[in-house]
Amino acid sequence: MNTYDVVVIGSGPGGYVAAIRCAQLGMKTAIIEKYATKGGTCLNVGCIPSKALLDSSHHYEDAVKHFAEHGIELTGEVKVNLQKMMERKASVVEQTTKGIDFLMDKNKIDSYQGEGSFKDKTHIEITNEKGETETIEAKHSIIATGSKPSSLPFITIDKERIITSTEALKLKEVPKHLLVIGGGVIGLELGQVYKRLGAEVTVIEYMDRILPTMDSAQSKELTKVLKKQKMKFALSHQVTSVENTGDEVVIKAKDKKGNEVEFKGDYCLACVGRRPYTEGLKAENAGVKLNERGQIEVNEQLQTSASNIYAVGDVIKGAMLAHKAEEEGVFVAETIAGQKPHIDYNLIPGVVYTWPEVASVGKTEEQLKEAKLTYKVGQFPMRALGRSRASGDIDGFVKILSDATTDEVLGVHMVGARVADLIAEAVTAMEFRASAEDISRMSHAHPTYAEAVKEAALAATENRALHI
Ligand code: FAD
Repeated sequence: MNTYDVVVIGSGPGGYVAAIRCAQLGMKTAIIEKYATKGGTCLNVGCIPSKALLDSSHHYEDAVKHFAEHGIELTGEVKVNLQKMMERKASVVEQTTKGIDFLMDKNKIDSYQGEGSFKDKTHIEITNEKGETETIEAKHSIIATGSKPSSLPFITIDKERIITSTEALKLKEVPKHLLVIGGGVIGLELGQVYKRLGAEVTVIEYMDRILPTMDSAQSKELTKVLKKQKMKFALSHQVTSVENTGDEVVIKAKDKKGNEVEFKGDYCLACVGRRPYTEGLKAENAGVKLNERGQIEVNEQLQTSASNIYAVGDVIKGAMLAHKAEEEGVFVAETIAGQKPHIDYNLIPGVVYTWPEVASVGKTEEQLKEAKLTYKVGQFPMRALGRSRASGDIDGFVKILSDATTDEVLGVHMVGARVADLIAEAVTAMEFRASAEDISRMSHAHPTYAEAVKEAALAATENRALHI
C-alpha cells in the first residue's frame, strides 16, 4: 500500500495549490481527482471558461458597437460563430488543466484518478470509473472537494432549457431571451456574455439590489451601466415556480407588493448559489463532522474534527472564491509542516468580471455603519481620468473608506475598466495598514486607471482630489 505524508482529495485551486505547497515543503504528497481533468470547478466550469467567454463576447461587442467610434470601419458583416467561440474556450480550459498535470509532475506529486472516500482517519479508498478500488495511507489529509451549483426546491434543472452555470458555459445557440435567476456574480457575468451575443436578458433577483453583499454604491453603478447595455432587472422578486413548457420557459415570481408576475423566455439560468460538495467522501468514517449547512466544520487552523484531516476552499465556510481556496491550501500545507501561517479574511478581494468590472476589499459602507464606526469617504469617477477618455471606458468610480480618526483604509470599492487588477493595490495598501494619505502621496503612472485610486485617496483626506 502506498503511504503518504499528505493526501489531498480534490484538484481545484484549493487542492492542487495545497499539494504543490506540501511537496515544496518536502512532504510525500498525493492528489486524488474524480474527473479526468484536474483543476476543479475553477478551471473546468468556473473562472477560466467564464472569463474566456467574457473576453470573446467583449471583442464581438467592441467590433459591433465601438470600433466605428475609433474610426475602424468593418466592411463585411460581423457575425458570431458560437461553435468556434466555444471551441476556443475549450482549448483555453485544456491548456490550463494540462498545466496542472505539468505542475503535479514537476513537484513529484502522485496523481490518482477516481473518487476518494475515507475508510478511516488514515486510509482512503480510490474508486475509478470502472469500479476498481485501491487504498492508500495518509498521515494527513486535506479535503478540497469544492462545491456544486445549488438550486431552489421547486426548480428542476433539466440541463436543456433550465440550466446552471455549467450548461451555460457550453450552449449550442444564443438564447433569444435568457431569464437569469439571481443577480450575483455568476448570473451577471454569464448574463452579460449572452447579452453581448444578442440575447435579451432579464435578471430576477430576490433582494432589492444586485450584488447584495457588495457596497451599495457598486450595485447602483453597475445596475445603471447594465441597464444602459439593455439588460433588464426585476429586483425584489421572489421566484415561486419555473416551468419548461416545451415551447418556452415560464417563471412565476412575487413582486414586493405580493403580486404574481410572469416571465417568459427560452432559457432559464439558475444562479442561486453553490453548495458544498461532500458526496461519496464518507467523511463520517474518519470522524469528520459537517455543520448544518453541509460544510466541513473546521477550527481556526482549518483542522476538521479529526485532528490529522484538514479542509479548504468551497467545502468549508467563507467566500466561495478560487483565491480564497488557494490561500487556504497554502495555509494548511504550512500548518502541517509546523509553520505558523496567517490568512486575513478581511483582505480577500471580491471581483465581478462584467464590463465595467467590479472589485472590492475590506469593509463596505453598510458594514461600517452597522459596526457604528466613524469613517471618511473619498470617491473619484473614472470619467475624470485621461486614460478613461482615451479608451472610452468612462463608467465607474473608485471609493475609499478610511477611519475618521486614524485615516487607516478600511475598505476600497471600485467599478470600472480593469478594476479586477487595480484592487491588488488596495489589498497591498491595506495589508500594510496604509492610511488614505499614504496612498495619496504615492506616485501613480499617468495616464492609468490607477490614478483613480490616488485621486480617491486624495478625496478621502481633506477633499484634496486634483482632477475634479
Ligand atoms: P473546486 O474547484 O470545486 O474543486 C473540487 C474538486 O474536487 C473537483 O475537481 C471535484 O471533482 C473534486 N472532488 C470532489 N469530491 C471528490 C472525491 N470524493 N474524490 C476525488 N475528487 C473529488 N472564483 C474566483 O475566485 N474568480 C472567478 O472569476 C470565479 N468565477 C467563477 C465562475 C463560475 C461560473 C463558477 C461556477 C465559479 C466561479 N468561481 C470563481 C468560484 C471558484 O470556481 C471556486 O471558488 C473554486 O473553484 C473553489 O475551489 P475548490 O478547490 O474549493 O473546489
